[in-house]
Amino acid sequence: MLAKLTKAGCPAPIINTSDCCAPGQGGQELCNTKTKQSTITVCCREKAHYTTTLKHELYHAMDCCRGTKPNDCDEAFCSEVVAYYYNDCTTQVNRMNCAFEGAKESLNRRTDCFGKTYEVTIDDARKCIDEYNKRKEEERF
Ligand SMILES: [Zn+2]
Repeated sequence: MLAKLTKAGCPAPIINTSDCCAPGQGGQELCNTKTKQSTITVCCREKAHYTTTLKHELYHAMDCCRGTKPNDCDEAFCSEVVAYYYNDCTTQVNRMNCAFEGAKESLNRRTDCFGKTYEVTIDDARKCIDEYNKRKEEERF
């Protein structure tokens, strides 16, 4: 994934660890929209999930590199769905549902996107995955 970012001309993310994250939070990614560099924080408390968390945040770093707007709740929702679907939820029987619920939880942790979770449906989540695959097919980022 790091190679993908470099290939797309984006700087490698800054990766930090922290032990002072919000409850239930495994990590965080902040996007510098000007430099397209992400700063990723992985919570030390979640040591067992370090790799999963880091990979999840790297999906967000790819969106940052692609130029999605981190403050757009629709784009943030899709970013979460893709990260959960292709990372955290891969072993779940109902993978789409797992990704949908995970994305909603993530949005709920953000005060600016809180109300959004009442509007999104599982079909919206499916669309996010479809769009992601389309981009991959066309080798767009
Ligand atoms: Zn996330």
